[in-house]
Amino acid sequence: MDKPHILLVEDEMHLARGICFNLELEDCRVSHVESGEAALQRLEYDRFALIILDIMLPGMDGFTLCRKVRESDARVPILMLTARSEEGDRITGLASGADDYLTKPFSLNEFLLRVRGMLRRSSWYTPEPVEEGYQFGENEVYLLSYRAKTAQGEIDLTDLEVRMLTLLFQREGEAVSRGELLERVWGYSTDTETRTLDNFIVRLRKYFEPDPANPVFFQTVRGVGYRFSRKKQ
Ligand code: CA
Repeated sequence: MDKPHILLVEDEMHLARGICFNLELEDCRVSHVESGEAALQRLEYDRFALIILDIMLPGMDGFTLCRKVRESDARVPILMLTARSEEGDRITGLASGADDYLTKPFSLNEFLLRVRGMLRRSSWYTPEPVEEGYQFGENEVYLLSYRAKTAQGEIDLTDLEVRMLTLLFQREGEAVSRGELLERVWGYSTDTETRTLDNFIVRLRKYFEPDPANPVFFQTVRGVGYRFSRKKQ
């Protein structure tokens, strides 16, 4: 099997060296660039299994880079790194299309957990051979082709969004715990930081809810997690 090819966009050389070294020990192939501009050049002729990008970069920042990547590739998993821990950054990051977020300084263990989770393809998901849209409200979701029609128009879905939607659709009407969502979508367990999940749900609500502040489909189940429902409860 081919080694997963990872693009690392990081201008701090000592950190980048450490990341490359450890990912190579994990049997990954890493291409490292130091700016968003260089990353976009690489992306013109290379495909990656994962993109890890720093927010604070010389020139183009990580948010802008992330949005530009998403214009041409809706699926590739994107992990953002930042030195700041503000909630605002997290939300901007996820809104610009990242799938997960890690605040520096992070432990090697935590970093590798995230990377392994994001690289793991959702093998538990066996798609139906015929692509039938999953309908709710004004939305139609096509999990196999990573697309959705919403009231705001057609959108492309990321790999992690598809994993999350697949799980919620399979368990329609049931509360799915935060632990299970993190484990099955991101590939890591509950005791790690969990705001990513909530911000991810915010993103899904923006796509699919007529009024994201008063969600009908993607409901919060207090103290448990989230529930997808096509009916008002
Ligand atoms: Ca930096």
